[in-house]
Amino acid sequence: MVHAESLSHNLGRARACAPDARVWAVVKANAYGHGIERAFEALRGADGFALLDLAEAERLRALDWRGPILLLEGVFEPRDLELCSRLNLWHVIHCTEQIDWLAAHKTHAPHRVFLKMNSGMNRLGFQPQALRAAWARLNALPQVDEISLVTHFSDADGPRGIAHQMAAWEATTHDLPGERSLANSAATLRHLSAAGVRADWVRAGILTYGGVPDFPEHDAAFWDLRPGMTLRSRLIATQNLVAGDTVGYGSTFTAPAPMRVGVVACGYADGYPRHAPTGTPILVDGVRTTTVGRVSMDMLAVDLTPVPHAGLGTEVTLWGCGPRGRVLGIDEVARAAGTIGYELMCAVAPRVPMSLV
Ligand SMILES: *Cc1c(COP(=O)(O)O)cnc(C)c1O
Repeated sequence: MVHAESLSHNLGRARACAPDARVWAVVKANAYGHGIERAFEALRGADGFALLDLAEAERLRALDWRGPILLLEGVFEPRDLELCSRLNLWHVIHCTEQIDWLAAHKTHAPHRVFLKMNSGMNRLGFQPQALRAAWARLNALPQVDEISLVTHFSDADGPRGIAHQMAAWEATTHDLPGERSLANSAATLRHLSAAGVRADWVRAGILTYGGVPDFPEHDAAFWDLRPGMTLRSRLIATQNLVAGDTVGYGSTFTAPAPMRVGVVACGYADGYPRHAPTGTPILVDGVRTTTVGRVSMDMLAVDLTPVPHAGLGTEVTLWGCGPRGRVLGIDEVARAAGTIGYELMCAVAPRVPMSLV
């Protein structure tokens, strides 16, 4: 299930943290697994949508979104520029080849571009010493309308913070005109109130979906974020074990005493992480318990000790919102499985029915 109201609420949290900025809802990777079309319904209030797959940009235009769309990695080959012209896509320029392609592109409508500086992430963008030459080249092109500036932080969620990158950014860009796009979710939540951080556009990804970028330092309640997604299923069987019985492939769990386990119709083919060990939190009828044994393709097992009334058909919440207002944060499940909420959201399989509620 995708929770429309939660997505809108979370987007509002980005706005509250960056009241002077416009907000890109980042909807790459099929809206972090929520589905572009579903997320769009809930996020129409965004100032624009940022993504990287051109097919996803086409899907947004097909939904009749006329506002800004930004390609976060820019175009991948020259012919992509035709789609940018046709659909009015704004695009990041992070390397000289992208400027060469633009210089050779024939268009009646000049493009809005976001020139990217590598301020220390060392993934995409021009080095500080090359940025101004790139800016001057773009500025001279008839294919270019407005030039904005963009950079990306590597440590906004952790102790290193953004100061070292902000120093490089300010030193290089302070006298260049144009709007600035800074700040992923972590930077929006943690650093935008700092003096001297000018962000005309923020890029809210994970927070929009209720994921906590700096979990477990902070949790969803701390940032007032609500789950954008619930993965739920049901018990399809129960087993009464005696001490010494094992559960699942590889017999990785042995019952220490007589106990009842439930079998849930959800497995790694649904996107539940196979590496989630015994002890991963899960809700059965809204009651917190844990998984036992290995996750298999279509099933996993849970300890029913805290939920003796559970039986065939009982609702199970793998993450998100359970019965009676009980919530299991996706970040908690991710942490138990040695990953982050981002990965779990993006990995939910197409076979999982996802209604917008
Ligand atoms: C994915 C992405 C974001 C969003 O990051 P979150 O941590 O999900 O908020 C922002 N900017 C760029 C360039 C990205 O690729």
